Amino acid sequence: MTKVYFKAIDSYSKTKEINAAAAALLQIIEEKELVALNKFIPLKVHLGEKGNTTFIHPKNFDGIIDYLKQKDIETAFIETNVLYKGQRNTMENHLRVAKEHGFTRIPVIIGDGEAGEDYELVQINKKNFDYCKIAKAVAKEKQIIVLSHFKGHALAGFGGAIKQLAMGCASKGGKLAQHSNSIPKISSLKCKACKACAVKCPENAITVDKKAKIDKHKCVGCASCMAACQYGAISNSWLASLTRSFNERLAEYAYGAAKDKNNIYITFAFNITKNCDCEGHPMKPIAKDLGVFASTDPVAIDQACLDVLDKIEGRKVLTRGRYTLDYAENIGLGSRKYELVEIQNI
Ligand code: SF4
Ligand code: SF4
Repeated sequence: MTKVYFKAIDSYSKTKEINAAAAALLQIIEEKELVALNKFIPLKVHLGEKGNTTFIHPKNFDGIIDYLKQKDIETAFIETNVLYKGQRNTMENHLRVAKEHGFTRIPVIIGDGEAGEDYELVQINKKNFDYCKIAKAVAKEKQIIVLSHFKGHALAGFGGAIKQLAMGCASKGGKLAQHSNSIPKISSLKCKACKACAVKCPENAITVDKKAKIDKHKCVGCASCMAACQYGAISNSWLASLTRSFNERLAEYAYGAAKDKNNIYITFAFNITKNCDCEGHPMKPIAKDLGVFASTDPVAIDQACLDVLDKIEGRKVLTRGRYTLDYAENIGLGSRKYELVEIQNI
């Protein structure tokens, strides 16, 4: 049975203790799970939107970087451009945020190029997608250490390793594809009638008189208009994003991002907020810190995070999105059944 290793520790612990825990978990994966380490292994991280204060700070990754360096393994942080208006939607902006948030110890690679144009089509032949648009710098690697922050997420319900693979490793176009079952809505209060969305719409579904309006019969939900609007006037329809199809698309993209890779998953379950690190403002945690998890299986590690959270809180905290795990298991991404191995002495 898949093993998920877990060290209970909180974010108020000394940084050197958190680093020791993460490095020890990586060593366990290498030695007990017999995962051979490549000569170059990128660390997939989330750099945190500007203004966010609960993303996992890179000082917590020093133990992992030290562990790799002592084995003469080269490494770099790797990220991809976001879809929406914000400070991380181009390489130039993204690198600025990386510096401000302290991601300076090792190089930072923006995996899908200046504005999302660098990607490879990874064939998966699943229900929703035959191919996934995976950031080129991710697609070319055979091994990635996926460092995730376990927390809530407005669309996916929760975010962990699967979310980090699916949205985190997709190019901008891949992110659009995952959102494509959602018909956006336009805020008439925010709309400035600039017509940028109408120009970008491939289906001529938007007309702009005094305000922009979407013809729901023409819209295919590609989300191009969301990326085009500089005024934040277009957002996902909440109801549409609650559909099971979105969960399935997420799981299929995670499958594509992980395909043929010998990945290691290390998840920091600290600062468990209701929404994700893409929110550019401070948020309060909604649950206790759990600790650090490690596994070779992205489904098992996400399931373990949810289970430990439920147990410690005595209730279901993050209730939405759990269908993603069912579907991910069904398509062969990993297993929901696992053995939790708690590490006591590090
Ligand atoms: S791009 Fe945004 S502000 Fe401009 S017309 Fe479209 S919705 Fe309105
Ligand atoms: S989601 Fe795509 S098809 Fe629908 S209005 Fe926006 S750009 Fe047009």
